[in-house]
Amino acid sequence: MNKSRREPEVFSSGERYRRRAKQWSGRVPVCVIYPNTYHLGMSNLGFQFLYHLFSEDNRFAVDRAFAPESIQEKLLLSYETGHKMDEFYILAFSISYENDYLNVLKILKDGGIPLNREDRGDKFPILIAGGAAITINPGAVLQVFDAVFIGEVEDAFSEFSDAIVENYEKNLSKEYLLRRLSEIDGFYVPGFYNYEFNREGRVTGVNPVLDVPGKVKRRITSDINNSVPRTFLFTSETEFSNMGVIEIARGCRWKCRFCAASYIYHPLRFRSQDVIKREILDMSQQCSKFGLLGALPTDHPELKDITDFIISLKKKFSFSSVRIGSLKDSIISALISGKENTVTLAPETGNERLRRVINKPITNHALFSQIERIVKNGLRRVKLYFLIGLPFERDEDVYDIAGLVKELLLLFPGVLFTLSAGIFVPKPHTPFQWAPFTDLEIIKRRIAILKKELAHKKNLILEISSLKSALIEAFLARSDIGVSKKLIELSGKLRGNNLLRMINYSEWIFREKDYNEFLPWDIIDNGIDRTYLLQEYKEAGVLL
Ligand code: SF4
Repeated sequence: MNKSRREPEVFSSGERYRRRAKQWSGRVPVCVIYPNTYHLGMSNLGFQFLYHLFSEDNRFAVDRAFAPESIQEKLLLSYETGHKMDEFYILAFSISYENDYLNVLKILKDGGIPLNREDRGDKFPILIAGGAAITINPGAVLQVFDAVFIGEVEDAFSEFSDAIVENYEKNLSKEYLLRRLSEIDGFYVPGFYNYEFNREGRVTGVNPVLDVPGKVKRRITSDINNSVPRTFLFTSETEFSNMGVIEIARGCRWKCRFCAASYIYHPLRFRSQDVIKREILDMSQQCSKFGLLGALPTDHPELKDITDFIISLKKKFSFSSVRIGSLKDSIISALISGKENTVTLAPETGNERLRRVINKPITNHALFSQIERIVKNGLRRVKLYFLIGLPFERDEDVYDIAGLVKELLLLFPGVLFTLSAGIFVPKPHTPFQWAPFTDLEIIKRRIAILKKELAHKKNLILEISSLKSALIEAFLARSDIGVSKKLIELSGKLRGNNLLRMINYSEWIFREKDYNEFLPWDIIDNGIDRTYLLQEYKEAGVLL
């Protein structure tokens, strides 16, 4: 391997970090990759955390790579030292969003790495992936990666980093390392399993061919106070420029039936205020604001102490999301004094009937009271998240979204509302994993209802997410290794988002799954009983 291509430099992005890139000599070269732009990657806490874990370990020389910003860039080089992808020993991908699976193929192609793991011998790097999308279902990239990691990385890092270092230093085979990884809870090595297919080409069973677990257990960190995902590398080129983001809670007690985050990050855990304050203090020289992150950070029992501490440092703060009813006057006025001008709430539906179906027991009355309290304290911008295409949804439910928003506009004339409507994607490991993606004509009709009812309303910004992007997400989130092979085959022709024209995706997303059928992600033991999920799904239908 060519060990030194370019000296570490001051990056054009103006990054602020304590360390400079380490020299390769004697260290295991690892490239941590975010399969999207630099801007999005550096805004992603999971990516920053993985990079930090490798950087802190002196046995590794760690670099980063991102998806090329333009299609003109032909050869992908690492960000810090300009090395080629095949010069690294490990390529470690952090993947939060299913749609980025397509960028993985592009990055490897541009990096000169064969896409199919069976075509890569010992002379190519070992490809590993983790992150929320992988934990939900790695099916669409199982033919690409040598190993995927399911769950939370903190406890596992020391185990797999030891295995990697030993393999590198002793020049052992890739096969040997993969066997060691397969012994670590959370690792899934697809090459050690045999996949059964039906006549339509869908996987109907997965069986170990070696002495590896029949099910891969999602890894759960034993004590989240032992380490803290936060911003380690500050750059002006991120969405949260000048903001230190810190995870203060993980998991959510509410278990809304559509919410993958609630099921893949359970159980609910809160990081202690002492640990949070220590990290906030450590970041405080580098930023003027803190983003408090979690599935529902405003449920943190020590929230007031944490926000008081931030105020005492003369810094501002905001939350990744807010549970309706959880914002007290003191927190709202602290937000305002920190010049925060928008609060984001997620009623998801326009009425309580559909909220019972999705198991989000929030009343419209509670929503009105929360907004009243926000407005009384002086905040003038409210963003509301809704979903279209939920299971058991009817046209009337969408009219109810419009009705609810109209009522809010009347009640709070001085407030600027943003209605953000997402297209619902049924995700693995949730009670709605059996549900079909709502028929396209129905979705289009419901989008049209919203637009017609709410177009050109004063004090309202209407944002509707991309239907095409939701279809790609649904397809990739519900795929299996057969799809992964197909994507590799098609990769030469994939340009931008033309996937939907090239593949027959209908069968994967528009069919309600049979309750007894094998699901591609059934090999993952997420820690929640399938019978419970099914019971929840059936109950949602009964509540119609
Ligand atoms: S939607 Fe929000 S409240 Fe519901 S489970 Fe997910 S994070 Fe919790």
